[in-house]
Amino acid sequence: MSFNNQSIGTYETKASRYDKMVYRRCGKSGILLPSISIGLWHNFGHSDNFTNARNILRSAFDHGVTHFDLANNYGPPYGAAEENFGRILEKDFLPYRDELIISSKAGYDMWPGPYGDFGSRKYLMASLDQSLKRMGLDYVDIFYHHRPDPDTPIEETMRALHDIVQQGKALYVGISSYPTKLTAQAAKILMEMGTKLLIHQPRYNMMDRWAEDGLLDELGKQGTGAIAFSPLAQGVLTNRYLKAFPEKSRAVKDGRYLQKENITKEILNKVDALNGIAEARGQTMAQLAIAWLLKDERISSVLVGVSSPKQLIENVKTIENLTFTKSELQKIEKILKK
Ligand code: NDP
Repeated sequence: MSFNNQSIGTYETKASRYDKMVYRRCGKSGILLPSISIGLWHNFGHSDNFTNARNILRSAFDHGVTHFDLANNYGPPYGAAEENFGRILEKDFLPYRDELIISSKAGYDMWPGPYGDFGSRKYLMASLDQSLKRMGLDYVDIFYHHRPDPDTPIEETMRALHDIVQQGKALYVGISSYPTKLTAQAAKILMEMGTKLLIHQPRYNMMDRWAEDGLLDELGKQGTGAIAFSPLAQGVLTNRYLKAFPEKSRAVKDGRYLQKENITKEILNKVDALNGIAEARGQTMAQLAIAWLLKDERISSVLVGVSSPKQLIENVKTIENLTFTKSELQKIEKILKK
């Protein structure tokens, strides 16, 4: 990360930070989440610009975005986003720690050998200790199991999450990308031990709607919140690629998770048509995609990624128009189902 951070001065947030943000209750819990949260998967690694990363988080908090989402393996390299976040926290956010919901996760490959991947107690416990060290925190607000593990008994993984709460290293726990049946099982096992499953983090956007096939119903039934990741399909559901493939875009500069060749003409035609609806609503394409998710009250928060404070501010402004007419929703369905 380039540490050209002298020029931006000390941080003092705005008194107005809570004036406009809409907060939603996370399932049946005491936690309110901002309807738009910020994820540090991209743009917070060691090859990214530290001042930009810092400015993104400053403008997020200034606009009432109180939830920062991390994971052990965000970078690159793995761990870098947590390290850089720890530096930013120390410089800018320590006075505001109690105003923040900070989450981390473990579940994907993190270190070599048999104990740095999936869902064993050994991995989860060690990984959270490492994450806390990297971020300079005593506890995270939410600790997630990042993905289901087909081989570790779910009782072991859930027991580890429960014990992590008992140890005070996380206030709440969540799961990510668990299918519906396994989610129900996880929630039940946790509840029997006395820990509530606070939240589920599924990928959910206009082009990936698996959560609608039972997951959201199950979460509603359990009183578990839902936070949608990759709501903009990594930037595809914005105006980013409508005219060209910009050099600094994720599809061009990164290519690890979003490949240029997968953003086909067919997809872009759909986005272009959706963009027409967005314009008629006085919104940008990104704002339409976020508002479309938030129309469902079971979505506690939409977890965006951004590469600049400008994108963040644009996304936060979505809350100014969250309602859809029947006819708009029908038009959107028609485009998506083409
Ligand atoms: P998005 O779908 O929000 O995509 C983010 C990208 O979209 C940005 O990097 C930017 O691309 C582009 N973008 C954002 N806002 C705008 C805008 N207003 N106008 C134009 N382009 C815009 O989310 P991510 O895929 O980044 O995921 C968000 C978060 O979700 C992650 O940081 C992480 O916390 C979480 N996540 C969780 C996973 C899990 O397994 N649980 C997996 C993946 C993500 P560009 O860089 O080109 O400018």
